Amino acid sequence: MKIIESISLTPQPIRGGYTDQVLRVDLSAPTISTSPLSPEYKNKYTGGRGYALKLIWDETSENTHYDSPENLLIMASGPLGNEPRFPGSGKFIVGTISPLTDTFVDSNVGGYFAPLLKSAGFDALAISGISQKDVVLIIDSEQRQIKIVEAPVFDDLIDSGALSYGEALLKHFNNGKLAENIAAVSTGVGALNTRYGILNSLFYDKRRKRIRSKQAGRGGTGTVMRHKGLRAVIVRSGTNKVSENNPFDENGVKRAGASLKKVVSQVDPKQLRLGDWGTPVLIEYMDKYHILPVNNYQYGQHPDAKAIFAEVFLNRYFSRKLPDGCFKGCNLACAKGAEDVTLKYGPKAGMRVGIDGPEYETAAAVTCMGIFDPQFIMEYNWYCDEYGLDTISMGVTASFLMECFQRGYLSKDDVGYELTWGDVECADRLLHETAFGKGFGKICSQGVRRAKQWIAEQYSRKTGVPQEEVNAELSKFAMETKGLEFSMYISKESLAQQGGYGFALKGPQHDEAWLIFIDQVHNEIPTFKMKAEALKWFPLIRTWFNAVGLCKLPWIDVRHPEAANTDNPAQNRPTLEYYVRYLNATTGSSKTLEDVLHDSERLHLLQKLINLRHGRGTRSDDQIPLRAMGPVFFNEYEARSDYYDKWLTNQLGDQKIPDDPEARHALILKLRQEAYDRLCDEVYEAKGYTKNAIPLLEVVDKFDLLDNQALRLLAVFGVQERQLSN
Ligand code: SF4
Repeated sequence: MKIIESISLTPQPIRGGYTDQVLRVDLSAPTISTSPLSPEYKNKYTGGRGYALKLIWDETSENTHYDSPENLLIMASGPLGNEPRFPGSGKFIVGTISPLTDTFVDSNVGGYFAPLLKSAGFDALAISGISQKDVVLIIDSEQRQIKIVEAPVFDDLIDSGALSYGEALLKHFNNGKLAENIAAVSTGVGALNTRYGILNSLFYDKRRKRIRSKQAGRGGTGTVMRHKGLRAVIVRSGTNKVSENNPFDENGVKRAGASLKKVVSQVDPKQLRLGDWGTPVLIEYMDKYHILPVNNYQYGQHPDAKAIFAEVFLNRYFSRKLPDGCFKGCNLACAKGAEDVTLKYGPKAGMRVGIDGPEYETAAAVTCMGIFDPQFIMEYNWYCDEYGLDTISMGVTASFLMECFQRGYLSKDDVGYELTWGDVECADRLLHETAFGKGFGKICSQGVRRAKQWIAEQYSRKTGVPQEEVNAELSKFAMETKGLEFSMYISKESLAQQGGYGFALKGPQHDEAWLIFIDQVHNEIPTFKMKAEALKWFPLIRTWFNAVGLCKLPWIDVRHPEAANTDNPAQNRPTLEYYVRYLNATTGSSKTLEDVLHDSERLHLLQKLINLRHGRGTRSDDQIPLRAMGPVFFNEYEARSDYYDKWLTNQLGDQKIPDDPEARHALILKLRQEAYDRLCDEVYEAKGYTKNAIPLLEVVDKFDLLDNQALRLLAVFGVQERQLSN
């Protein structure tokens, strides 16, 4: 591989989970450099998401867009990644300015990449600039070198269907041999042709004897990578041994990890059974509680859903005897995979492939198109990964287009064919057209928000209906907020989840507040006040997981038996105690859970400031489509009219519900909108924001974030310095 730029590498030792060094690559120049991070940096910004936020805040501006040279693509783990003795510790964050939301987005992903990067001496990798030709970055601690090389071309291999680019590259890099101490991130052609490209984290699974992949799926991180001309990053380093993190208290780490592993192994088989079934186990729950998206979130349940319940994937596809963790030592091991699946659809039909997945989200992205075919779900999963497409944004955009077709906003003339619910051939065609930027796929590739604008323009031009009117109508069922497509939970009957989606800083992705289970399924936060409190507390603890390099599932999906005896069982504090012990044992700190939440609040606020800077931070940006709040069209009300009438009766108390079903439907929507509005007020107050969702000056000051940029920004929104002196 032809070297364009290189420097020598002397790995910094890890101490207490940190190397205190960031690797910087400017692809425009091109240059490679390393820079030390001060102790203040880790004390204030923790790692992972915190580092990505701070770098973006300092080094980009309101004029930075996803394709601006100064946009940064940051990959950062935290101090608690890289530890096989503690479950779920291989995660890292990919953060950048998003092509969908035009503000900060990050995505959490597993695999061996970040632990190997840490072993090579780096807490974070920050890539800026744009290369004129496609390149690969190689971080090689074995050869003591970091280099930018011209990206090799493997078109013949890929065209013949033998390998994806990332796999071909990994083989090429190590003379045909795959090894656990070499990992990569890369993406595919779809990332270049859409706004929702993903980044695949590739690692060698020696028991399956193949490359596996996990995805940084949300917000278009892969799109940014391809626009930078970066085909892949390879890292070769140590082998993620126990003790490599060099914790301050070895025994403390061991004990905390053993405690969590014990709870996982004893409790998961009696609760969700993620270890056996993987996240597809959620399909049955979601269908039962009317939460599974069907036909663009119109319905939450379908009689055919049983065709895709978890046992179908388990019996037909998953390999029971093979390991499923996405990093060493995770005994929850929910990352399922299938071997030797013969593809039936698309350009690679007939090929036998290994498939990593499906996760619940991917399966539900397919039901969102009205399809309940397990084989198509497997293939949709595989093609999206290969193309580098977010399964969620792809599925939600396709579903939105199908509903536009159903309601007459699109015709066969616009699309070239019929977009029909449940039609595998049509969904398959749209998927491949989107990945390659061909035909109507060009519209689908832009995501829901931009597709909506295009349709409104076209429809208005053809019919003479004012564009604003069309836009308003489409907005009722265009499932995006801040520009990001909703993840796969119907929030109509969960006010808490409506807030979880609306207030989520990156847009409606559940990793900030997945409250639907505790709200709608378990009814653990029944009052308005409890919902508002949950909407402050959960985003903070979840932010912490993204800052330290940990997976949330062993905490949130495995309820400690003793949690039932606490004030707030849903917070699962007995398990969180293990996490705090693990943190202190690793870093040498003596923090409490409250300290951890305080640290997270700083990061949450910093993200809020970035959103304000990029025009995505006010109350209007937290608004969600009407469909996320209730049965927006009459057919949705009719499908569950008994339920909705009962709900209305409860709401009205002594008052009689209207006789006319249409009036009942309209009243439900009105009450839902009022409740959401009230929720905004309460949550903003709890967070220390104005009614327009702007943080108060003293709140920003309390977290030591009031630099000149923040002062100027808050002044623009009418939050002035005098507030501080008052
Ligand atoms: S719980 Fe699942 S997603 Fe999380 S680290 Fe373990 S295998 Fe990976």
